Amino acid sequence: MTTSASLPAESESAIPADGTVTDRLVEANQRYAEAFTDPGMDARPVLQVAVVACMDARLDLHAALGLELGDCHTIRNAGGVVTDDVIRSLTISQRALGTRSVVLIHHSGCGLEGLSEDFRHDLEMEVGQRPTWAVEGFRDVDQDVRQSIQKVRTSPFLLHTDDVRGFVFDVKSGRLREIRPN
Ligand SMILES: [Zn+2]
Repeated sequence: MTTSASLPAESESAIPADGTVTDRLVEANQRYAEAFTDPGMDARPVLQVAVVACMDARLDLHAALGLELGDCHTIRNAGGVVTDDVIRSLTISQRALGTRSVVLIHHSGCGLEGLSEDFRHDLEMEVGQRPTWAVEGFRDVDQDVRQSIQKVRTSPFLLHTDDVRGFVFDVKSGRLREIRPN
């Protein structure tokens, strides 16, 4: 294990020359913890909202939506797809931790755009095992948001499905565009 003493004090490169990117994150955490004070919150999000979004690195949810620490639940995966596991998280979010609203965020230039189930087939050919999950690629981001809204709204497990809204985040302009359900 690399100690912080062996890391370069000031690195020009995004990734340290000696040490892994994780070492860099751990080092950043040491600085974070030094300035950290316990906000004294409990686990229930202040704004009673859960945000489901793509994992895309260009999407800074808290900054883009004016969110503060403790405001929301953030549920992210490739595409911001409403999978069974997202429904699991939303169910816990609503039933155990008091959220009432759901915001869905997809974005322009998503890595899932144009990806087909061929990806899954090719993977199976390569590793000799069929993945249990769907790739969930899509061609039309607006339509994908509509489908996601519909999946949340029709889930039997959720307590609150009256305030579910979906958006496409433009990674070039930073703006959200709301998608109206069909
Ligand atoms: Zn994406």
